[in-house]
Amino acid sequence: MKQRIATREQALKQGLTNFFPGTLCKRGHKAERNAKSGQCVECRREATRALAATGCFREWAAAAKVRAQEAEAAAHVTPKKRRKARRRGH
Ligand SMILES: [Zn+2]
Repeated sequence: MKQRIATREQALKQGLTNFFPGTLCKRGHKAERNAKSGQCVECRREATRALAATGCFREWAAAAKVRAQEAEAAAHVTPKKRRKARRRGH
């Protein structure tokens, strides 16, 4: 699949998640970049894979999930729901 070369500004304007700058990243990938962070998607994939291999990512994902649940619970706290929204002890 041939990708159209675009700038990050164009991608952001069009609301795209990724764009293809047509240049190599600092680690030599000819890949798309994330429009918001500007990060090479291949680098990100590798970093994610490396973290997943060490188990860090799962811990991080679990922690992020708990944080999201707590934030959600805090946003909807009513006297009735408060009991359900109790914090998980460590
Ligand atoms: Zn890269």
